[in-house]
Amino acid sequence: MPVTIDKDTCIGCGACVGVCPVGALSMGDDSKSHCDEGICIDCGACVACCPVEAISQ
Ligand code: SF4
Ligand code: SF4
Repeated sequence: MPVTIDKDTCIGCGACVGVCPVGALSMGDDSKSHCDEGICIDCGACVACCPVEAISQ
């Protein structure tokens, strides 16, 4: 299962985009993080790095 990003909680810091080992995360036009479900390998790195706990597995 790919991660779920709570858009209301995300503050658009971009930290998760930098830690994803497979490039599954990107910043959307709404300045919120977006996960490409076909690429995410569910490693959990982004969940651990998000400062506002916006990402869940
Ligand atoms: S769980 Fe891992 S692979 Fe999936 S988006 Fe987060 S950092 Fe990338
Ligand atoms: S680390 Fe968290 S707050 Fe920062 S862009 Fe990613 S989901 Fe949003």
